[in-house]
Amino acid sequence: MATELLYLRDAYQRTFSATVVDRRDDAVVLDRTAFYPTGGGQPHDTGTLGGLSVTEVRKEGDAVWHTLSGGPAPAVGALVDGEIDWERRHALMRTHTALHVLCGVIWNEWAVPVTGGNMEPLSARMDFEFDPLPEAFGPRVEELVNVELAADRAVSVEFLARGEAVGDADLIRTKVNMIPETVSEIRVIDIAGLDKQADGGTHVRSTAEVGRIRVVKTESKGKGNKRVRLEVVDA
Ligand SMILES: [Zn+2]
Repeated sequence: MATELLYLRDAYQRTFSATVVDRRDDAVVLDRTAFYPTGGGQPHDTGTLGGLSVTEVRKEGDAVWHTLSGGPAPAVGALVDGEIDWERRHALMRTHTALHVLCGVIWNEWAVPVTGGNMEPLSARMDFEFDPLPEAFGPRVEELVNVELAADRAVSVEFLARGEAVGDADLIRTKVNMIPETVSEIRVIDIAGLDKQADGGTHVRSTAEVGRIRVVKTESKGKGNKRVRLEVVDA
């Protein structure tokens, strides 16, 4: 049974009630969840479910499995209350939005696409198709990103029909046409006037809520692949 993903429409929902629809050893599937499962470079949430600790969250097909510790997992049919660890989640939201601002800035300034990335709460790495890196790139990109963050740009979540998304010029660079044809609705994160991407992650409402970034390191990961490591700090 498919799990309804509450975080797709409201990233600020911290608590919810749900019914257990499947169970396997120490893990359960719910009919709905606010817990983000690992994916798209964003790690899973932690928190509590029915008084037990949620230690891992992963998606298998349309079902979200929550691994529990601290006691026996509730039975199928049980109604449970969930609460996500908000400090961790909000840190991940700030970090994820910071990475989209970084992508937008690098595209606008150098027209270079992203090739990969990963994040932890308040720290991340992202790889870009630079060859070589521009001179004094670290300080320059840090400055440009921090200007955009301070500009307090609105971050909105949109659901577009597949045809609409594929025809959107702003989405072409993120290869939205590569999304399988079976997907009829595409979720888009729009940072007003800066960056637009098809994305399944959780984001803050405005760029000011991110704070600032600090570029910790830039390094070469081979031809056409340069890595930026950053930290998110309070403004
Ligand atoms: Zn993203």
